[in-house]
Amino acid sequence: LAGRDFRQEDTVITIGDVEIGGNQVQVFAGPCAVESWEQLIESARAVKEAGAKILRGGAFKPRTSPYAFQGLEEKGLQLLAKAREETGLLITTEVMDPRSIEIIAHYSDILQVGARNMQNFFLLKELAKIEKPILLKRGLSSTIEEWLMAAEYLMAGGNNQVILCERGIRTFETYTRNTLDISAVPIVKQLSHLPVIVDPSHGTGKWQLVRPMSQASIAAGADGLMIEVHPNPSEALCDGPQSLTPENFTVLMEDMRKMARIM
Ligand code: PEP
Ligand code: MN
Repeated sequence: LAGRDFRQEDTVITIGDVEIGGNQVQVFAGPCAVESWEQLIESARAVKEAGAKILRGGAFKPRTSPYAFQGLEEKGLQLLAKAREETGLLITTEVMDPRSIEIIAHYSDILQVGARNMQNFFLLKELAKIEKPILLKRGLSSTIEEWLMAAEYLMAGGNNQVILCERGIRTFETYTRNTLDISAVPIVKQLSHLPVIVDPSHGTGKWQLVRPMSQASIAAGADGLMIEVHPNPSEALCDGPQSLTPENFTVLMEDMRKMARIM
């Protein structure tokens, strides 16, 4: 169902007046984690001011260490919903557990499946039953075929609103957090009709690399970007080193307008 053989024309996912996979580049931006109302609304206002239409922010965080900040959970979802009310931005947030699908679907416009859960088939089967778009990140060590098969799980179960997100893969290179596979964009665009976005924040782990890799992603044909933005990256509870300041995010959005089909 995800393949070009099955459907030739590009899939466009429409939420209100926002189209993902159409002629515009859509930018999902915001903090790694929702930390507080002040941090979230400041991020949301900055992201909106710069021209993005979708706010990201984790309420349930998949952290490597069980002692690291795990997210504000339902409180975080409520803050995201409040930020949507104040700014009109759409909301994307991660779902890790089938038991929280209902509550996350209640608060959020797009549900994100993180890299660590790309092959959590039980989670995918449950998400296939809901009527909200799913942002499916590529697994840490997943091939393109495995990634498309994960999308197939969602579609086979009845959910055709799938957005793919390249976020870097594990290689022997340790200079960057992951190796961002830009070539995955044209490959997936050829194999599939689904929209493909790129997350250069997790893809590189370094904020200085986010701008050039965003440019490269759009040049390669990506339908959008996911970018971590924090009002004060040095104090972020999660992923500060890869987060852009509002000022740097504004510069990135100016690039995008120059390069592409944005807005
Ligand atoms: C995220 O986007 O918040 C995240 C945890 O990313 P990934 O699943 O790609 O590691
Ligand atoms: Mn993060």
